[in-house]
Amino acid sequence: MKTNSGGGPGGMEGDLAEILITAEEIRRRLAELAAEIERDHEGRDLTIVGILTGSLIFLSDLLRLLRIPLRVDFVGAASYGAAIESSGELTVTKTLGLDVRGRDVLLVDDILDTGHTLQRIRRMIARHDPRSIELCVFLDKPERRRIPIEADYVGFTIPDRFVVGYGLDYAERYRNLPFVGVLKESVTGPGNATQG
Ligand code: 5GP
Ligand code: MG
Repeated sequence: MKTNSGGGPGGMEGDLAEILITAEEIRRRLAELAAEIERDHEGRDLTIVGILTGSLIFLSDLLRLLRIPLRVDFVGAASYGAAIESSGELTVTKTLGLDVRGRDVLLVDDILDTGHTLQRIRRMIARHDPRSIELCVFLDKPERRRIPIEADYVGFTIPDRFVVGYGLDYAERYRNLPFVGVLKESVTGPGNATQG
């Protein structure tokens, strides 16, 4: 088995060039974010809709901190392949299960990048006539925006780097890292990524 310095079995952490946001920083920020969401939604019945798969970890940690009445649903969205850029081509793999007509919806995703994904999903949910739709993202990369869309709640604003961990993947891997990191170029370099 290949062993990387600083990595565990399989060398997952050895594939990282840098840790951008630590687990402790995430924990502290999520407490603030949850307090903000609670305060803004006092006395309202919230429907939280997570976008699979990237929002998984963020959403489950955030949910445990929210002490307001809420329901949880998921929608699925996937862009093809292991490309590190979203192409704007999006496949909806799961539609809403809950009825959100007249409800306040908080749409949760891992990262707001070009904005294509959240715009598509927001439009899809709007067709179900909710009372309101708000956006909550763990990460925001404003430099990369192509669609004029902003989130109501942002965990961290980050520079234009491709990050993994805490739900975010590279070719479906690294989601289980408990922090946010940047991969080494030897991992994402030419020949390792397929444009999708
Ligand atoms: P957008 O449609 O806003 O360009 O991109 C949103 C999706 O692209 C995210 O849900 C995520 O799947 C992917 N994405 C964008 N930037 C990153 C990044 O830095 N790291 C990872 N792992 N995925 C990203
Ligand atoms: Mg992804």
